Amino acid sequence: MTHVTCPGCELRFTPYAAATLTHCPFCGGGLIEADASRLVGYQLAEPVVSLDDVHDVFTSVLPPPPPSHSPQPPSVG
Ligand SMILES: [Zn+2]
Repeated sequence: MTHVTCPGCELRFTPYAAATLTHCPFCGGGLIEADASRLVGYQLAEPVVSLDDVHDVFTSVLPPPPPSHSPQPPSVG
């Protein structure tokens, strides 16, 4: 069994992450495939999202902002 790894960071990536990565998201270095037996001690890297991805998730979940000319609640007093 082989894993996609970054030898510089000593990280291994899940097959899903490896399918979307062209380079290491942490150091920018090239990724290689290595046999699992050579990766003892390599940490599994969790999927990484960019701030743009987070922004897209929030804007797709949150309701749209109210119209600027919506009626205001009556003021007390
Ligand atoms: Zn790296």
